[in-house]
Amino acid sequence: MGSNTTIVGDFNQMTLDDKLSTIKYEPDINSHLNPDFEQCKTCKSKICNKICPAGVYEWLEDEKKLLVKYENCLECGACRIACEKKCINWEYPKGTKGVIFKRG
Ligand code: SF4
Ligand code: SF4
Repeated sequence: MGSNTTIVGDFNQMTLDDKLSTIKYEPDINSHLNPDFEQCKTCKSKICNKICPAGVYEWLEDEKKLLVKYENCLECGACRIACEKKCINWEYPKGTKGVIFKRG
């Protein structure tokens, strides 16, 4: 068995939190995720809060505001597809910014 096989096997044993801790980010100054916040106020499902694997979106009920922690984005695109109102202006981070995967 080669050393690469062992590494992949170990990686598959890791929890999601452990895997996320292997990822590096180089955040841009500006968010590459720009929902229409007015639309979010009347969104019933707030599905972005549930579907994002990196926990980027958080609805703040007291403030009636959507928090977007874009620095943690894995660039999977799921939120753009799932958004109830199709109102997320989504683009890749500029240049060398964004997520850096060490494996896979
Ligand atoms: S699913 Fe779309 S409309 Fe609803 S809160 Fe998230 S970004 Fe806003
Ligand atoms: S692209 Fe993926 S990781 Fe990034 S905010 Fe959307 S669902 Fe979350």
